[in-house]
Amino acid sequence: DGPSCRAALPSFKLYMADLESALHYSLRVEATRPSVLSGAQLAAFKCYVATLVKYFPGRPSVQTYLQNLDSLERHFRGYPCGLWTIFHLLTVQAAQNGPDKELPQEVLSTMRCYVRNFFGCQECAEHFEAMAAKSMEKVASREESVLWLWSHHNEVNARLAGGDTEDPKFPKLQWPPPDMCPLCHKEELGVHAWVVPAVVVFLKAHFSPANIYMDYAE
Ligand code: FAD
Repeated sequence: DGPSCRAALPSFKLYMADLESALHYSLRVEATRPSVLSGAQLAAFKCYVATLVKYFPGRPSVQTYLQNLDSLERHFRGYPCGLWTIFHLLTVQAAQNGPDKELPQEVLSTMRCYVRNFFGCQECAEHFEAMAAKSMEKVASREESVLWLWSHHNEVNARLAGGDTEDPKFPKLQWPPPDMCPLCHKEELGVHAWVVPAVVVFLKAHFSPANIYMDYAE
């Protein structure tokens, strides 16, 4: 059920409380029900938020919320991106903060469990579970768990590249691309290969507390 709406009764007034509760419902419940917004749904959501930012005569706190939502959409492309990032950070922090061979799959199995039980994109969860079932149990050290998540995220990127869920402004690349980490790439007999030790160094620096930007303003 949606929120109540006094505008449905004969009245000379509009009620901000009703408008805000409708906004809350549409933005926080209805439009974001799918955990991955892509294609036409993503375009519709962006357009809706951009129009609200332009024309909704909200209280300053509501306008700020809408502006933040608009820039969050543009800069971070939403929840799944954040979820990947959280788990990359956790695998790297676990590798930095404990004996390499102790509980090697601790973070990966937590991620597997979370995705299986909660991640709202069922198709994504099934794909992830299939990858996990194939090889996660072979991970024998914390550093391997960092690399497992990196290489399987790249497997997802490769599968989605060129598909209809791809944002043309943010193409799905094998990551990190050469401009982010030149030392991570080499060519062997004309074929691209990863320099894995350089990738490890890069991931540890990229997913480190020192690389987390703490300024919440734009
Ligand atoms: P994302 O792929 O979300 O990446 C987020 C950030 O992580 C990037 O901006 C980059 O900085 C960094 N990054 C990118 N690649 C790597 C890497 N290899 N290692 C470390 N860091 C990296 N969508 C589908 O359509 N089908 C699916 O089956 C599917 N499965 C998913 C499974 C899981 C567990 C998750 C969390 C998401 C899944 N998604 C799937 C969503 C999809 O992977 C993207 O998260 C979404 O399309 C948003 O992409 P993005 O361009 O913001 O970057």
